[in-house]
Amino acid sequence: MTKHNRILNVLKEGDSNGDGWSLELNTSQGRTVFAVAVAQSVHRSRTGPTWSYIFENQGWTSIDLGTPGSYDALKVAYSTIGLAPSDIKRVIISHGHSDHDGTVTDFMRDSKAELWAHETYKPLKKYIPWEIHYKKGSLLHKELNRIAEEKIQPYYEPDAAREATDQKYFEERSQTEVARDLRDGYELSDLKIMSTPGHSPDQICLLLDDFIFTGDHILPEITPHPTGKMVFRTSILENLPDFLRDPSEFYGLGTYLNSLGKVIKLGPNYTILPAHRLYNKSRFNWQGIERAKQIIKHHEHRLDSMLNKLQNNTSNLEETTRGIFERSKLLGPNLYAAMSEIVAHLEFLEDTGDIAIGASGDISKQGTGTNYKTYISRLVDPNL
Ligand SMILES: [Zn+2]
Ligand SMILES: [Zn+2]
Repeated sequence: MTKHNRILNVLKEGDSNGDGWSLELNTSQGRTVFAVAVAQSVHRSRTGPTWSYIFENQGWTSIDLGTPGSYDALKVAYSTIGLAPSDIKRVIISHGHSDHDGTVTDFMRDSKAELWAHETYKPLKKYIPWEIHYKKGSLLHKELNRIAEEKIQPYYEPDAAREATDQKYFEERSQTEVARDLRDGYELSDLKIMSTPGHSPDQICLLLDDFIFTGDHILPEITPHPTGKMVFRTSILENLPDFLRDPSEFYGLGTYLNSLGKVIKLGPNYTILPAHRLYNKSRFNWQGIERAKQIIKHHEHRLDSMLNKLQNNTSNLEETTRGIFERSKLLGPNLYAAMSEIVAHLEFLEDTGDIAIGASGDISKQGTGTNYKTYISRLVDPNL
């Protein structure tokens, strides 16, 4: 753990959950990287503050900014390292979730910074994520939707303030100008981009000396939520660039696991700089690439227990979800989050040929039910 502690100076101490910390870090080459934790403002989630990383590489470069409404907190955080938004030449978004690009519009108003993001960010940012998906495009998603409408919707309490914030965010985001579309392998001096889709279609990791900025691809303490498979609505599909027309490359648990495998192949010398939880519960989480292996293991255990429960039975989406998660984790809207996570796992097992899904949504084991193990072992062992 301590091998990865790269603090040169603590510029400001923050709260026990990480809010407000400001650090000067040092790469193996002696390069300074500032790390500031921008507190979530209006709607606090359990992921904690967004870490924004700032360094010089052909001008000041920022990675990630923070949630909608947190721009003032960001300016205070940047002042602790002696910088203002107007000093920043480019902002690189690790992926298009609102806790990362939520203050881009505010930031751009006060600076001449360019916005850079993965090439899938620009065509997708025009849309509200849950509106691009053709939910009847697969049996599992259809089933997920049916259960949500029946069991979650009736208890849903609208939060007007939250909806207004979201709407403003999506409207502003659709207008922002992206100066550069990033692809896998793109380099700017010493900074190198890695495309690592799965948590989000536009998720990237960034390499600088022995640092890897992982956005939400790899986080300490929490396992990032993988996307399910995407079936674009026809009306959306017509407007997408060619490279996005086959979404299997950018979405799904298999895609996410492949992207973890890709990071593992970098070898053990990198230090992970995540977008959340670098500091939490009054301590730092310094980790290396082994964290990617732990996340793969977590998914492997989940797949193991899903298949074990299917031994001689058929099941369905809700039953499988209730068999995996504790009751307390399935209350209200949490049931939806849990089921969508299970959908991603079932889709993966269907692809590896370990389960079959019948026309009525019934799930049964196929063959030995071990193909996924071969798939995963290939990711963890770079010699295979
Ligand atoms: Zn995210
Ligand atoms: Zn995030």
